[in-house]
Amino acid sequence: MQQGERIAIVGAGIVGLCTAYSLRQAGHAITLFDPNPAGSQCSSGNAGALSSRSVVPLATPGILKTAFSMLLDSRGPLHVPPYYWLQIAPWLARFVAASRPERVGAIAAALSELLRGSVQAHTQIAAELGQSELIRSTGQLHLYPDEAYYAKDQASWALKQQYGLHLEKVSRPTIEAMEPEVGPGYRVGVFLPTEGWVANPLRYAQALAARLAAMQATFVSAPIQSLQADASGWTLSDGTRRWQAQRVVVCAGAWSGPLLAAQGWKIPLESQRGYHLQLARPNLELAHQVVLADRKLFITPMETGLRLAGTVEFGSLTRPPSMKRARLLGEHARAGLPALDVDSAQTWMGHRPCLPDSMPVLGPVPSRPGLWCAFGHGHLGLTGSANTGRLIAGAMAGRPDDQRVLRPFSIERF
Ligand SMILES: Cc1cc2nc3c(=O)[nH]c(=O)nc-3n(C[C@H](O)[C@H](O)[C@H](O)COP(=O)(O)OP(=O)(O)OC[C@H]3O[C@@H](n4cnc5c(N)ncnc54)[C@H](O)[C@@H]3O)c2cc1C
Repeated sequence: MQQGERIAIVGAGIVGLCTAYSLRQAGHAITLFDPNPAGSQCSSGNAGALSSRSVVPLATPGILKTAFSMLLDSRGPLHVPPYYWLQIAPWLARFVAASRPERVGAIAAALSELLRGSVQAHTQIAAELGQSELIRSTGQLHLYPDEAYYAKDQASWALKQQYGLHLEKVSRPTIEAMEPEVGPGYRVGVFLPTEGWVANPLRYAQALAARLAAMQATFVSAPIQSLQADASGWTLSDGTRRWQAQRVVVCAGAWSGPLLAAQGWKIPLESQRGYHLQLARPNLELAHQVVLADRKLFITPMETGLRLAGTVEFGSLTRPPSMKRARLLGEHARAGLPALDVDSAQTWMGHRPCLPDSMPVLGPVPSRPGLWCAFGHGHLGLTGSANTGRLIAGAMAGRPDDQRVLRPFSIERF
């Protein structure tokens, strides 16, 4: 690959922005295509967690039993509306297939390589943007009602520890000292001192976009509808206009499927819709990112107030959100933070781009020279975005180590 190639990035979420940033730093001419403002989709409303050792896939042995009992609880963290049951069934079958112990081990090993050093990678980018205050590194505190609840996650913590997670198990007096607002219903905690969070994911994405513009990257407001290979590389079109590039990286998050389907690759990419409640006046302060682990709820002290984020809802890219699921987050959060005031709540829904094996699709598309993928980061797209950008730029430049890390994420696994 030569320096100064013309590279098109389809999608300006946090993954597209980080990929553009690394490729621009490597000296390439970058154009980003997106019909929406940079960072405004899934990358704007997430929980902000930088979870560099979250190497355990969502599907682990025993998932059938756990997921089924969650599904029976309409107020629980997992929801499939009846209209979507038939459509999601094949995806769920692949999800369960990915829960075999040997597959879980291989996925954890691959994710470990991808996510390693993510907190430091984002810290460095934020510093380069002059926005160091966006990255918070006082650690994450995961809470359980009691030892029995904690025991359900013990195997997952142990696997993360195998991959270098530093954790401290804490009891009620320590929880009270760390976070006095946590109510008596939570008696067991797991503190992760080396993990962190982004205090305003949208502002982070916007700062990256502004820096890219200052570095002469071009932003085009257009939905790319087709990618056509030709003698000089690729032609992108939005149905009326056309653009030329030597290489294309598809970073369109949950919307990436049709662009690859047109190239002959049917990818089982699904949206796991997630919600948040943003509280401008929560009536309390937290010193750490707090996770009510039994309710799968992240509570994040953001620049703009407290954010309650979570839930997984399968329900397509097009159906309107069901904001009662966002409001449920307020009720769940009050179980852990009794003084919480949710009157100032604003609701939001976003589409997590999810593959059944909890791994993104990264790297070149076989038999399509110059076409690359970087999408499907699921629950960890903010965390994984910085390393994704670095690895894509390195692999394009022919660096063997980066190519090796990306190999398990290849589109060829489908
Ligand atoms: C409730 C919730 C909480 C989360 N919490 C965390 C967390 O704590 N930590 C973490 O690491 N991750 C978290 N995530 C996941 C994370 O937000 C996503 O994985 C990440 O934002 C995905 O980034 P992306 O750039 O791939 O997608 P997006 O941000 O969705 O960006 C994709 C972009 O592609 C554009 N696009 C789509 N189609 C086209 C087209 N045809 N042409 C051009 N552009 C197109 C879209 O307009 C969009 O801007 C959470 C997600 C949710 C919903």
